[in-house]
Amino acid sequence: MMTAALNAAEVSAKLPPRRQRNNTMAFKLHNTLTRQLAELRPGEPGHVRFYTCGPTVYNFAHIGNFRAYIFEDLLRRYLKFRGFRVTQVMNLTDVDDKTIRSSREQGLPLRQFTKKYIDAFFEDLAVLRVERAEHYPAATDHVPEMIALIQTLLDKGVGYKSDDGSIYFSIAKFPSYGKLAHLDMTGLRSGARVAQDEYEKESAADFALWKAWDEKDGAVVWDAPWGRGRPGWHIECSAMSMKYLGQSFDLHTGGVDNIFPHHEDEIAQSEAATGQPFVKYWMHCAHLVVDGKKMSKSLGNFFTLRDLLDKGYSGREIRYELLATHYRQSLNFTFTALDAARAALGRLDEFSDRLRTIAGVADPDHHLPAWAQQALDAFTAALDEDLNISAALAALFDMITAGNRAMNEKTLNAAGASTVLGLLKRFDSVLGFLQPEQQQADADALALLEQRQAARKAKNWPESDRIRDELKKRGWVIQDTAQGPKLKKM
Ligand code: AMP
Ligand code: ZN
Repeated sequence: MMTAALNAAEVSAKLPPRRQRNNTMAFKLHNTLTRQLAELRPGEPGHVRFYTCGPTVYNFAHIGNFRAYIFEDLLRRYLKFRGFRVTQVMNLTDVDDKTIRSSREQGLPLRQFTKKYIDAFFEDLAVLRVERAEHYPAATDHVPEMIALIQTLLDKGVGYKSDDGSIYFSIAKFPSYGKLAHLDMTGLRSGARVAQDEYEKESAADFALWKAWDEKDGAVVWDAPWGRGRPGWHIECSAMSMKYLGQSFDLHTGGVDNIFPHHEDEIAQSEAATGQPFVKYWMHCAHLVVDGKKMSKSLGNFFTLRDLLDKGYSGREIRYELLATHYRQSLNFTFTALDAARAALGRLDEFSDRLRTIAGVADPDHHLPAWAQQALDAFTAALDEDLNISAALAALFDMITAGNRAMNEKTLNAAGASTVLGLLKRFDSVLGFLQPEQQQADADALALLEQRQAARKAKNWPESDRIRDELKKRGWVIQDTAQGPKLKKM
């Protein structure tokens, strides 16, 4: 048995002191609504509430989808680094045209069918080191909220019932329809309707809030005051975002394909119902492309995360490739870039190992060497500018060059090396790829050990047992020692 002897207290190593930053610096983002850079000013100072459109769970997510989730993870982590409190909601679309069609093809009840892909999604997020959002509401758990919202739209005369019993949103009744996608509505065909969840800008028309049951829906059906059926895709996100974040919240994100119709329709439904501005800032990431074409299930040009893991790449390497291009630039997926990611991570690991060989006990009062402080300032300034990740990574690699020079010249002492290691830890709270795989696994295990301690303190024995079993599954046993609990590798 190998003893890892990691103590829960080691989890939070001392961070280097932060030089007071210039107060005029602020986080700026490109707002799709205005097509301009704007300083993020949350409605409640210091607390950013944001909604991210989650996966449609009818298949394994592909790495194009993960580009969007990793961009949102960078945003979330950077906001926290910047000192904001974050409340993030990511929905799970577990009822829509695609989930119903696929579950019927496989002859499975909808929930049983989607469970497999929901579980896989969370496993994949963990492999890619995507931090957990605060809430993951599933659409099928929120149908009463959707029905209430549709009822409000009917009461206000913005929703209407069609001959087949479906409910549509009348875009002519919402004068600012098209403001997010910047649509020219002059040629609007009044009264035209579109039943599908996905359609092109050219087909802008009244869209379905509720779809009356037909035999294609099988057993997927709910009762509403106006008849039996199921919600349309767009109303799901309006109902769930407002339930968890309020009628007006700060920020909403997704891939550019979500701008129209999905987000346009979310705005129309929500603002028509509440009379309040729905969302202040919208951010959209460009696509992951293969040979110039969007990676998508329908084109068949996709890789799932599992495909790439099978080829021998790690979650950490894939995360690096998906993160390293600015989110508003399209990212061409190649294996050459994955190999380059591996090489870049190797350089980072070498640097940390070298620092570790000379590092002494961390001294919280020790200042960062000037070259490291410069890197921290440049890293922050870059990400403040609409998450300019390329410049942030350039700052990191410049620091490695300067740090290696200092170590060659023996001008970095033990305390200095410790502060630089602490700084790397802070960078990693944003980047999430600096820890090697094994260290990451150990850090995850230590975080679980801490959670178990908290559960025990709260006398929550079932939770404490659950965590112990989870650790066992990952190959760790807990040993209670005089210095507190420790983990031992099985
Ligand atoms: P879906 O499961 O199709 O609703 O997509 C989930 C998320 O992935 C949405 O935010 C999409 O905009 C995003 N997405 C889908 N394909 C790509 C792609 N090739 N590149 C980047 N984001 C994508
Ligand atoms: Zn959505």
